[in-house]
Amino acid sequence: MRLKNKIAIVTGGSRGIGADIAQELATNGAEVIIVYRNRDDKACEVIEGIKAKGYKAHMYKCDVSNFNEVKKFTEEIIERFGKVDILVNNAGISEIGMLIDMEEETWDSISNTNLKSIFNMCKHIGRHMMWNKGGSIINISSIWGEVGASCEVAYSATKGGINAFTRAFAKEVASSGVRVNGISPGVINTEMNRWMTPEEEQELQEEIPMGRFGEGSEIGKIAVFLSSEDSSYMTGQILRADGGML
Ligand code: NDP
Repeated sequence: MRLKNKIAIVTGGSRGIGADIAQELATNGAEVIIVYRNRDDKACEVIEGIKAKGYKAHMYKCDVSNFNEVKKFTEEIIERFGKVDILVNNAGISEIGMLIDMEEETWDSISNTNLKSIFNMCKHIGRHMMWNKGGSIINISSIWGEVGASCEVAYSATKGGINAFTRAFAKEVASSGVRVNGISPGVINTEMNRWMTPEEEQELQEEIPMGRFGEGSEIGKIAVFLSSEDSSYMTGQILRADGGML
């Protein structure tokens, strides 16, 4: 129970990697608050699953790309729980297509959901963590933020931005005892990758030295490490988990 008595927020915790991160944090003792935007059914499933195992979980509907919604959400959380020890900025979206065909609204939506959301959350929760002289922030990036993906230019740009944000913010808050790290996953088995045909999936798997996509729980275990005292001297790091792909 490495995270006993810790309060953790996981954005995008209702599905995919975020749901697995929430489960891993909870089974290590953290009381988990999952944030989602649309799918009440999925969010409910995740927290009921965690509670059924005897751990504590809560769900909040909040669009993390919206500054005012995040401000209201974070004020409510601090009031209700008194503190936040762990913040996992995981919510993210992508859209496959050529940049030259992309509408401005799509660019704004991807960049606000993936990158501005991190500003929104870190501004409010980061301030609180600094007052409390401690906390761990984990930003979920992507290998495409390091090397770029064709037909995912906006997505890649936001993930590259997250890497720079993570390193810069880590330096800014380190003396207050707040650590900021990132995880850079390769291809993980979630709804985000359901657009591929079985042939495309197989082709992509063949490019991965480990010969398979990753599972959300494999990212969740890294999040537990970065949340816990086991990583107490680490900040500003982006840990890559990609089956050897890069
Ligand atoms: P999914 O599409 O499976 O889940 C996305 C989650 O984010 C959902 O819970 C969704 O909630 C939530 N979400 C989306 N937009 C918002 C918003 N504006 N406000 C609040 N919540 C929101 O994604 P993955 O699990 O695949 O990806 C999670 C993260 O991991 C993303 O940042 C992604 O970029 C990153 N990643 C994923 C990889 C992969 O191969 N899957 C690889 C590398 C990185 P709702 O359902 O309610 O909309």
